Amino acid sequence: MVGSEVDIIVEGGTVVTESGRTCCDIAIRDGRVAGLFLPGTAPPAKRVIDAQGKFVLPGLVDAHTHLQIHFGGVAYRDDYYTGSVAAAFNGTTTIIDFVFPGPGEELAAAIDKEMRLADGSCVVDFGFHPCILPSTPRIARAVREAVDAGLTSFKLFMTYGRHGLMIDDGHLLSVMEAACETGALAGVHAENDAIAEHLTTSLCRGGAIGPESFPKSKPSFVEVEAIRRATFLAGSVGCALYVFHMSTAGGAREIRTARSAGQRVFAETCPHYLLLDSEVYAGPDGARFIVSPPLRPKHEQDALWEGLADGTISVVATDHAPLNSDQKAQAKSFAEVPNGLAGIELSLPLLYTCGVLGKRITLENLVSRMSSGPARLFGLYPRKGAILPGSDADLVVIDPKVKKTVRAGGLHMNVDHVVYEGMELCGWPEVTLLRGQTLVRNGTFCGRKGYGTFLRRSLPAFGLPIGTP
Ligand code: MN
Ligand code: MN
Repeated sequence: MVGSEVDIIVEGGTVVTESGRTCCDIAIRDGRVAGLFLPGTAPPAKRVIDAQGKFVLPGLVDAHTHLQIHFGGVAYRDDYYTGSVAAAFNGTTTIIDFVFPGPGEELAAAIDKEMRLADGSCVVDFGFHPCILPSTPRIARAVREAVDAGLTSFKLFMTYGRHGLMIDDGHLLSVMEAACETGALAGVHAENDAIAEHLTTSLCRGGAIGPESFPKSKPSFVEVEAIRRATFLAGSVGCALYVFHMSTAGGAREIRTARSAGQRVFAETCPHYLLLDSEVYAGPDGARFIVSPPLRPKHEQDALWEGLADGTISVVATDHAPLNSDQKAQAKSFAEVPNGLAGIELSLPLLYTCGVLGKRITLENLVSRMSSGPARLFGLYPRKGAILPGSDADLVVIDPKVKKTVRAGGLHMNVDHVVYEGMELCGWPEVTLLRGQTLVRNGTFCGRKGYGTFLRRSLPAFGLPIGTP
């Protein structure tokens, strides 16, 4: 093998993984990493990508996206094509989206449908977290079948009773039992539904219907209580737990407490919780920022950055849920504003600039939380999330010297505004490779519709390297 010609050499870059950085050349053959070589010692190649002065990272795994989704009567703006093109511009080569079964629908049928939507359209590789509703038939069997089909993590809504998505504690427990039996990961959207509904109703009755009231309808304890309850229930049945989009300092404390009691509990946060705070709800475009859980008071952000640094938080994902400004502005009250922010195209420059250059986390930590960490937890490592011989040749080259200002018009997400408008960011991908194919090069999309493949995921790997600051 070594010595004979390879397809591509990525030459002269600083290769960054979760455990460190090294100057080496990466040889790619047949869509996989063929080997790593001391600079200048790689075999001849058909094509050379010059990465001199640049960082080379494993392709990012965005473990929380919503493409081509209709939810609560609202059509989100990106489909599997437009959203995955935007993802490629972020250096994201794998997304994990969701399967939402209809009321009473068999999970397997819902999975088939979602697969057909993504297949032939998505330009990056994809997997799904199935959501389980209380009405989902034969829950234990549905979980088993999904795991057998390579869908090894689930999402359970502890809220959105209004939209028919909420699972009660009994059903939550039964999914956890099934997840435990199969080795799958039970994930939760952790918000206390009854309290959120109660506070929403009383705010609206008192005439406090503007966006500035939204964070008061779901204060931090609404999330913390649900995380504590989910953690307690998961601990009771011995099931591993994943907390989607954790937004609070109190949530991070719950994760630490459960961990120190020996529980396998993992948390995700999103760029918007790290970088934006609840003051925006009182601003002129308050409705644009409505997302659940809500953005929090500024002081909570420190705990999230610390959680990323010390391993309490394993994953940064975008929760990409794109809506146009008119979809946000039409609502009569904050309670009717459709939830969600667009962010699939910006998580790398945001975390690189505000996290790495802002001295909150190292670049190795960014790789862990945005690539290797989710790849391990969601059963994709070392095919994804690694630059090792045999790994998929999913690579991102970033030029640390390039700085650009965020403008909605210059992005590829199918939305008319972006909540990070005007920010000056570094860390934009110059090249994105997926299985050795160029998806993005110097601001141009070179991928192909439908190039992405469905990833049958293995069971989660829990032996995380916890504390890479
Ligand atoms: Mn959610
Ligand atoms: Mn979501």
